[in-house]
Amino acid sequence: MTRRFEGKRILVATHNAGKLEEMEELFAPFGVSVVGAAEMKLDEPEETEETFVGNARIKARAAVVATGLPALADDSGIEVDALDGAPGVYTADWAETENGRDFMMAMTRTHDEILKTNAAQPWTARFCSTLVLAWPDGHEEIFAGTVDGTLVWPIRGKQGHGYDPMFQPLGHDRTFAEMTHDEKNAISHRADSFNKLIKGCFG
Ligand code: IMP
Repeated sequence: MTRRFEGKRILVATHNAGKLEEMEELFAPFGVSVVGAAEMKLDEPEETEETFVGNARIKARAAVVATGLPALADDSGIEVDALDGAPGVYTADWAETENGRDFMMAMTRTHDEILKTNAAQPWTARFCSTLVLAWPDGHEEIFAGTVDGTLVWPIRGKQGHGYDPMFQPLGHDRTFAEMTHDEKNAISHRADSFNKLIKGCFG
């Protein structure tokens, strides 16, 4: 039995303004206001686990302990079958440079490594998003969302962020970066995990 969220204010354990805005829109219909990690002056904990749920839990629990408020955190990334699930939880790390994140570099590396495996096309992959909602008494709820697709090369499209130009969701002929914001948000891994959260704890 999942626990319902009865409060009017939820802490979203992210320093990412885009994610925060998405959450605000999501919670608005339920009369729940959202407060971000930066507003609460929280540090960003180190993500030391090897799973999405492990890292989401680190972020959610650190925020609960620091504030006493129920906290929601997510961790996401892309799993490539030809690479045995890499980059997975290390998706953001593959883009890291001295001058910030470079996803062209990360996508090129992904393509190079797939070629090295001689894997036949289609190159199947999935985006994953795991949400952890943690309460001050230690209770937590976990919701995992995914979207399956294939990787394309050369990359296509200019919308979105991260690996969007390389990912074509199953049943579609455009990449996430060729879709509008609304089209992507209707089918994405994050939409999947958010919908499960809403159904489980806010419905
Ligand atoms: P984190 O969840 O903040 O650790 O970020 C994980 C990384 O996964 C991001 O930096 C993106 O590279 C990638 N990622 C997660 N969701 C998406 C998406 O919807 N499109 C493209 N890339 C994504």
